[in-house]
Amino acid sequence: MTVEFKLLGTGAGPGVPSYFCDCPACKEARENPCLARTRSGAVIDTGKEKILIDASPDLRSQLVREQITSLDYVFLTHWHYDHFGGLGDLEFYVKLSRRQPLKLFLPPEALEAFHSAYPFLPEVFDLITWQFEQVYCFENLTLTPLPARHGIQTAGLVLESKRKLAYFTDTSGLPDSTARIIEGTDFLVCDATFYGENWYPHRHMSLEEAIQLGKKVKAGNTVLTHLAMHYSTPVTVAQLAEEISAHPGVSLAYDGMVITL
Ligand SMILES: [Zn+2]
Ligand SMILES: [Zn+2]
Repeated sequence: MTVEFKLLGTGAGPGVPSYFCDCPACKEARENPCLARTRSGAVIDTGKEKILIDASPDLRSQLVREQITSLDYVFLTHWHYDHFGGLGDLEFYVKLSRRQPLKLFLPPEALEAFHSAYPFLPEVFDLITWQFEQVYCFENLTLTPLPARHGIQTAGLVLESKRKLAYFTDTSGLPDSTARIIEGTDFLVCDATFYGENWYPHRHMSLEEAIQLGKKVKAGNTVLTHLAMHYSTPVTVAQLAEEISAHPGVSLAYDGMVITL
C-alpha cells in the first residue's frame, strides 16, 4: 500500500486571489482558477486512514474539491488563523457522520488558546498535545514533529514511509538540530512565502531562501509552498516557473499536488 501526501492548500494567509487585491498574481488566479491558492494544509492517506495536517479556513472547500469524505486524525503545526481557522467545520462532520470524537493533536502552547477560541468544541475532539521529536506511528507511516522557526511554537513534520518527506509550511530556515535530522530527505516541502523582500525574516522564507535551504539539507526535491504571490513584489506563476527552471529538483507546489511516499 502506498502512502499519499496531498497538498490541500499552498497559499499564505490572504490566499490567492485575495478578495481585496488586484495585483497581477490575483488577476492571473481569477482568470485561471487552477492557479488559485487556498490557505496551506495537507492530507496524508495511508490507504487505511487519513491524517489532516492543519485546518485552514478553506478546509470545507478543500475537502469538497478533493472528494475527501472522512478523516481519522488532525495535526496542527501551529496556532495561526490560516492553519486552525477551519476547525469549526469539523464539528458537523463529527456530529453528523463520524459520530465519535476525532483525535486532534495540538501544539502544547496552543491548548489554552484552543479552549478560549472554541469553547463549544471539546466534545468534538479528543485533544492530545503533540511533543517534539516523539515518533507517532500509523499504518506504513511514521510522523515526527520537529521544531521550526516561526515566532510561536511551531512544528514541521517528518513523514517516513518508503520515502521521507519533511513538511515545514511556516518557518524561517531551520534550527540546527532539525536541519541535521532531515538531511538527505527525499522531499522538502517548505515555506517560500515571499518573492522579493522578506518582510518577516524571523518567521518566513523568501523563494531564494527556501531554495538555499533545500540545498543546505541536501533534499532530493524541494517543493515551494505557502506562497503569498503578492506581498512585497507581486509575481505570476509563469514568472516563478521561469525563475526556478534554473534550479534542478525545485518545483512549485499547487493545490491538489500529490507526492507518493
Ligand atoms: Zn504561521
Ligand atoms: Zn501560515
